[in-house]
Amino acid sequence: MKMICDFCYRHCSIAEEMTGWCRSRTASGGIIRDVSYGHLAAIADDPIEKKPLYHFLPGTRTLSIAMEGCSLDCDFCQNFHIAKEHHDNPGFHTPESIEGFAAENGYKSISFTYTEPIVWQDYMLETAKEAEKDSIKTIMVSNGTFSDEALDRILPSIDAYNIDLKGDAEFYKSICHGSIEPVLDGIERIVEYGSHIEVTTLVIEGIHTKKMIRELGGMLSKRSVKVWHITPFYPMRRMSDRKATSMPFLLSMAEEARKSGIPHIYAFDDELECPDCGNRIRRQESDGICQACGNRIYGVWEKDPTA
Ligand code: SF4
Repeated sequence: MKMICDFCYRHCSIAEEMTGWCRSRTASGGIIRDVSYGHLAAIADDPIEKKPLYHFLPGTRTLSIAMEGCSLDCDFCQNFHIAKEHHDNPGFHTPESIEGFAAENGYKSISFTYTEPIVWQDYMLETAKEAEKDSIKTIMVSNGTFSDEALDRILPSIDAYNIDLKGDAEFYKSICHGSIEPVLDGIERIVEYGSHIEVTTLVIEGIHTKKMIRELGGMLSKRSVKVWHITPFYPMRRMSDRKATSMPFLLSMAEEARKSGIPHIYAFDDELECPDCGNRIRRQESDGICQACGNRIYGVWEKDPTA
């Protein structure tokens, strides 16, 4: 008898003792399990800006964790050693132990990141449930290839998201070996739900063009996204022969992104600008209110006087 995995848009039909497309979910004894449940591929102390999240508790540290697995297969994957290769990661960490470590060490948030938390969402959601007990926020850094069922489970439990919008439909098909539609649907549902969301596009010279950035900007603007990060590519995996993104190219793509009307565009800039009056504000010192014009800036701020 085959079982259906509803964790991502692929909805794999998995026979007993077989794995799904991602090779991280296996059918065994009448249920589908994570191959490496609790065996972390990475655990790290990160500035929250590294996610990148620039408008969610800026200046704080986040406890980052990852288990192996991904629902895409990008030729340029920057983390493929832990996302796509199987390792026998030693040690076993329960969701309770991760939350306990975060609480003892004063973390404001736990980030599910580096690989694709959609494929290990049961572990992520169990950890998020623990985190809620100590008011620790939860962050999902994801490729956005949710199933509708996964979003029903995840939206009430996760506080903030950084979702990749990697390229146009053809880019997803030929380079990521996936599909753009679930990503756009996911972004739309997160915005509608009212959770904090920032979007990232990694740009590759010779592939991303101004035209593509304009198209992506239109998609994000239509979905009321407020923060868009343009980040550089480093030669990796099946694209290790390509050159790293140069600063002039990165800035030209960010310049094009600004034409979308999305209020906050970042390439490497450390400051944010009030979209209403143009006042420059240091994020780490901000309470979310522009000191020049008094307008509220999109985000979740530690010193928010209205929270
Ligand atoms: S997470 Fe996605 S790719 Fe992996 S088994 Fe489930 S449906 Fe298939």
